[in-house]
Amino acid sequence: MLGGSLLSVGYNTRMPLATYRKKRSFAKTPEPSGLEKRGAARKHPLFVVQKHDARQLHYDLRLEAEGVLKSWAVPKGPSLNPKVRRLAMKVEDHPRSYARFEGEIPEGNYGAGDVIVWDTGTYAVPDAKTARESERALMRGLKKGDAKVVLSGKKLKGGFALVRMKGRGAWLLIKERDRYASTADILKRTRSAISRRVLPRDRKK
Ligand code: MN
Repeated sequence: MLGGSLLSVGYNTRMPLATYRKKRSFAKTPEPSGLEKRGAARKHPLFVVQKHDARQLHYDLRLEAEGVLKSWAVPKGPSLNPKVRRLAMKVEDHPRSYARFEGEIPEGNYGAGDVIVWDTGTYAVPDAKTARESERALMRGLKKGDAKVVLSGKKLKGGFALVRMKGRGAWLLIKERDRYASTADILKRTRSAISRRVLPRDRKK
């Protein structure tokens, strides 16, 4: 997953989304190029969790900041149980337009497989009063290796922590103890948050 990361980091510092674009051929994949026009300013930055049936099924957590979506691949998906720590591998920034992407990345392309928007909504950082303040607080937290966000999604709600571990790109995603904490398995809800879709693998036989 992190192959070529040294090269990627070099590109990343020069231009936002350079790594994202380098990995993809937009003539061959339906994913957005990230060159779309900016939408209206929002009161809160957005978050999305995409369920991605690639070579290995995973969930992609994305948080809007600095004009892009900061992204992590969560192999086992998020949990509402504060006792459960889910590995979240940092991956390249994605364009904001990716937040509504659902579809099939064709065979032979990076991340080939089906994608749905499993959950989406907004996030805030405690004490931040504007979207900009939340984004800045998130970036400070990520730099420190310990970021807290409060999600307002359809499935995921309440506080979550992202804690950096030793080892390149490895983080833990942990539910905070609040009224949204639960031992129920949220991953049993398989439907898209923006359409009626489920992944082919989740269709009832
Ligand atoms: Mn993915």
